Order: sequence, then C-alpha cells, then structure tokens
Amino acid sequence: MKLKSIQNKFQTELKSIFSIEEIDSIFYLLIDSFYKVSRIQLALEPEMFLGNNEPILNALNLLKEQKPVQYIIGETEFYGLNFKVNKHVLIPRPETEELVTWVLKHANSKKEIRILDIGTGSGSIAVSLSKHLPRAHVYALDVSVEALNMAKQNAALNIVDVEFIEVDILKTKSIENLKFDIIVSNPPYVREQEKELMKPNVLENEPHLALFVKDNNALQFYKAIIDFSKESLSKDGILFFEINEYLGKEMIGLLKENNFSKLELKQDIFRKDRMIKGVKN
Ligand code: GLN
Repeated sequence: MKLKSIQNKFQTELKSIFSIEEIDSIFYLLIDSFYKVSRIQLALEPEMFLGNNEPILNALNLLKEQKPVQYIIGETEFYGLNFKVNKHVLIPRPETEELVTWVLKHANSKKEIRILDIGTGSGSIAVSLSKHLPRAHVYALDVSVEALNMAKQNAALNIVDVEFIEVDILKTKSIENLKFDIIVSNPPYVREQEKELMKPNVLENEPHLALFVKDNNALQFYKAIIDFSKESLSKDGILFFEINEYLGKEMIGLLKENNFSKLELKQDIFRKDRMIKGVKN
C-alpha cells in the first residue's frame, strides 16, 4: 500500500475515536518510529511504498482497541527527553512536567543536594531532575520491580546516574539512614469513584497499581510519605507532590497538621489544583 493510502485508512477507521489532528499526529509518530519516515517525507512523497505494511496495520488494530500509541511504540517524550514505556509504568503526563519545572525552580543547582523520587514508575521525574541538576544525588524508589527495570533503562538511555531502590513506601521510614533535601512524588491518587470519569485508553491499559487508591483512604500514600519525611527529609527540606485535582484542600490540611510550612498549592495548565509543596520545620 502507498503511504498516503495507509494514512487515509487510519483517518477512516479511527475517526470515531480521535480527531483528525490526533489521527495525523499518531500516524506521524508511527511512521517515524517503525520506518524512519518523517512527516515531511510523507508530504513530499505521498506515493511512497512501505517495505512491510504489517507493523503499521497491526498498530492500527491496537489503536482501535484503545491502546495508547506510546505503548505501541514503546517510548514517549517527557521534559525534552526520550523515555521507554511499557504496561508496567504510567505514560508520563504533561502535568508532571510542570511538577519537574517547579522542583527545578527550588533546587540549588550549585550544591550537591540529595533528591528522592517516590514511586518513580518510568523514572521520568528522577531522570529529568538528574539531567538538569548534574551535581545532585538522585535516588528513586518503587514497589514494582518491573517499573524499576524500565526506570533503570531510562536512566541509561539518558546518561544519568540515579540510584534505584525497590521498596514499599507504605512500610518504610528511611533509606540507608539518608536525609534528603528534596522529596518529590506523584503517587497513586485517583479514587475508585473517579473510574467512571476515565477514558478506556487509560483504564484498560495503564497500571492500576500506579493510579488507584481506595475511596476511603485517598491520601494513603501522602500520609506515608509525610511520615517517611519526618525521619528522612532534612530540616528546611522541601516536599513536592502531584495531587488529585479534587483534594487540594485536604492536602493543605494534611501538611499543616504535620507542621509543614510555606505551603503552596499550584494549578496546572488546565487550571486544576495539581501540585503542592511544603517546607519541613
Ligand atoms: N494524572 C494521572 C491520570 O490522569 C494520574 C496519576 C496518578 O495517579 N498519580 O490518570
């Protein structure tokens, strides 16, 4: 099949799921990843034939089943860097890039500070911080061995040194007796009751371990991380969280109760309460 005909097939068969713009950008990602053909080449040579149609037609079927293109390709971009992803890790979100920007604004790049990312998943936060703070010692933990495996590959891919640790934060109060200057986390925070608001591409493909918490214990991970911080965050150290947009007030309450100061709640580009920071007294 001609490349242009395949693009038309994508547009017809996916139009009930995506907008035309989305279909085109997905198509460009796929031809680049599978055939090293750029969108410019496609525009210049629409009559071009692909060697083997199978990978792209196979991808079309997976897209129809709501599989995210990032999992089909096996990689995505975050903070200007490439990250491998698979079903064991969440696809990094643009909101989380905003969290990284916020941390970088407050991290002293001249000092050898120690940073910990809790629930690192693909390693997106830890690796991008390490890339931008070459003097920092970055640690990252996760309960999932499969996620750590992916995160380690992403550290290698981006040529940074991150120390990865397999640990369940719900059962841990310190790591190697270290004190951290910054602790950052994007833990699971979607309540079971919010499942019905979620799209099937997320719900049926992304790891529930990384997404969901019980309705009656929605702040479980934040409580555990705050507890961990009592022991393991240095005085004047900063705690940064990505949060559930509906739980900003509760998060302020929780941090206040635990004696954190200089609290700041921050919205993401979609104007949702999405991040919070506090300083340990
Ligand atoms: N923001 C993610 C979503 O929309 C959830 C991330 C998380 O639970 N930490 O699915």
